[in-house]
Amino acid sequence: MSNDPLETASQCRHYAMCKIDYLETGLCPSGPEKHYVAYYPQGRMDIYAALKRNLIPLTEGLIDIADTCTLCRICDKQCHFATGLRPLSVMKALKAEVEALKESGHSIHQPPQDEVLEELRQIVGPACATNDPAILITYANDPFPLKEMQMPRFVVLPASTAEVSFIVKLARRKGVPTVVRGNGGSVYGMVFTDGIVIDTTRMKDIRIDADNWTATVGAGVTSFDLQREASRLGFRVNAAEPAATVCGNIICTGLFSTWSASYGTFSDNFIDMEFVDDEGRVTHLSDPASPNLYAYQHRVMTPPAICTRAIVPLYPISNDEESLLVPFTNFEDAVRLARELNIRRIGLSIAVLGPHYIATFLSPTLELSQRLKQNLGNVFGIEYAVFVIADSYGRDAVKKMAGSVIDGPLLRKLMLGLPRFLGKDWIDLVRTYEGDHPPYEILCDPAAAPFIEAALQPTPVTAAEAVEEDLRQFYTSLYHKPQYTDGVWLSMHRIVSCRMGRHKHIFAFLVYLPADDIEMFNTLNETFGCTAKELGIDHDFGFITPMDMGKRAVYEYDYYLDQTSAKDKRKAAAVMERIVPWLDDLALTRKGFTWIKTFFSQGCVRKEGFFYEGFSKRTKD
Ligand SMILES: Cc1cc2nc3c(=O)[nH]c(=O)nc-3n(C[C@H](O)[C@H](O)[C@H](O)COP(=O)(O)OP(=O)(O)OC[C@H]3O[C@@H](n4cnc5c(N)ncnc54)[C@H](O)[C@@H]3O)c2cc1C
Ligand code: SF4
Repeated sequence: MSNDPLETASQCRHYAMCKIDYLETGLCPSGPEKHYVAYYPQGRMDIYAALKRNLIPLTEGLIDIADTCTLCRICDKQCHFATGLRPLSVMKALKAEVEALKESGHSIHQPPQDEVLEELRQIVGPACATNDPAILITYANDPFPLKEMQMPRFVVLPASTAEVSFIVKLARRKGVPTVVRGNGGSVYGMVFTDGIVIDTTRMKDIRIDADNWTATVGAGVTSFDLQREASRLGFRVNAAEPAATVCGNIICTGLFSTWSASYGTFSDNFIDMEFVDDEGRVTHLSDPASPNLYAYQHRVMTPPAICTRAIVPLYPISNDEESLLVPFTNFEDAVRLARELNIRRIGLSIAVLGPHYIATFLSPTLELSQRLKQNLGNVFGIEYAVFVIADSYGRDAVKKMAGSVIDGPLLRKLMLGLPRFLGKDWIDLVRTYEGDHPPYEILCDPAAAPFIEAALQPTPVTAAEAVEEDLRQFYTSLYHKPQYTDGVWLSMHRIVSCRMGRHKHIFAFLVYLPADDIEMFNTLNETFGCTAKELGIDHDFGFITPMDMGKRAVYEYDYYLDQTSAKDKRKAAAVMERIVPWLDDLALTRKGFTWIKTFFSQGCVRKEGFFYEGFSKRTKD
């Protein structure tokens, strides 16, 4: 990774991981106090890049943003864990840049007085609505390759449903467009407008009703914060990206996860939702008079209204849950096992993973993940794996069905001993194996446990050997905490999934399809793979999770693009030209086939509306 501050700043992925305290480091101190994304490391990265490109003037907001960075280094730890970036150099450079502007006697730009802004401030308070360009610029862009920067006129931070309603009525009266934003983690260029960005970050209320098995969450509550709160009380929620807001995630992608194998997706994710519609009226989905958001429409949609609160289901956790990784030498067998488990209702969370995901999730650095990825197949024979979380009965069943498994304790050893696992001595030793079975079977053999222990020396110190010297102490103490090597905790809180975008920004394609259609899975792999190869794009199979008792599945294939490269942007456009008509055609001609273009923003629908053919027939959008 580069040490150049501008290069680092330009690579900020906007996955918002610096807005959640997922490493127990605490948050960037100014963020929770000032609320605007500009006061989090992500915002400061954008601001520095904008300043260097002369896109913003010196403002009071900019001076405050630079001054309130205490150079505490929290962002360096958080961002390194998630993306491998080291933002501290950017923070230092930003402070120096702003200081230099001040010293050179540069005038301070005063944003214009504005009637709409005055009214917004009356609704939310003077500090929570702004038109300062230094703040606006952090709401103007994301790494999505097919969208240009769009500066909003205002950003406003409502704290309640009533405030959202007043803002919507004001915007309607003044004819100003609005967009609602959770944490901007969709990175599909969806949260931009030249009007008002309604940032829900202050709406962070979480109420757990244990007797009712529900949690009521405000629009600004993230998946991570809800999962942490629920698990403190012995519950689990179905949550996906940790920094995504629960409400935004439900609306936008229907919140699918590997846990959807048992907890479902789309309308399974909520009990009730509260909305403010485009006239500022407050509605609840449980009210028979409210618009029917349960019906799937086969066309491109925008969010139906602003969700201000959601009531989501809580799930019990049994005290003997653990993760298992079942290795496979081929794709088809892995898919068949995943489906079979779902048909038999074995396992809570199920996913078919390829070497890219396995390596990425286990490795604290990009370099180590690339080496692991190469060796998983070549050396150990692990071409695919089924990741399962199950109680002890479920795990016994998986072992009976699958034979060799990497169980939770072994997975922990591999994570902690990874630098040695990939050391020459160990790899050379495994290469000498000449049996009839794939080499991973040696690893999985319980008799090999003492030998693995001795060879890998799996300790937090060993794991931390992989990272830069100045971060080793931090990683050592992190790996001393059992949750950071626990497959169940990591999967529930999903703090490693953003590592997929560690080498380049991820551009994901999501498809729902029949889970027994192995031929179609192969066609998807081949077509996505060949298209990427022809266009010279980094690419990889993502994952498959079976759902609805093995009848349907969600499938992900990922392209990786350098968000700063004009060439990669052109490649992304070329991808869309080829892939979109092909997927559109499949969605019209194959039962149970749908892709993200049409389910996006329809997260409240019943999944059955697009899993199965009903009375309404699909037509071309
Ligand atoms: C690395 C990575 C992995 C991901 N993996 C998954 C995954 O496994 N499963 C999954 O479901 N998603 C996944 N996503 C997608 C992402 O989690 C979702 O897009 C999520 O919605 C982002 O949440 P957000 O709060 O940042 O939403 P934003 O990006 O802020 O908003 C997304 C959309 O929802 C709208 N919106 C936001 N809040 C509200 C609201 N309160 N009311 C109405 N509309 C609203 C916005 O206008 C926008 O159209 C992944 C994303 C990344 C970057
Ligand atoms: S170094 Fe600055 S930007 Fe980074 S977390 Fe600390 S205060 Fe925030």
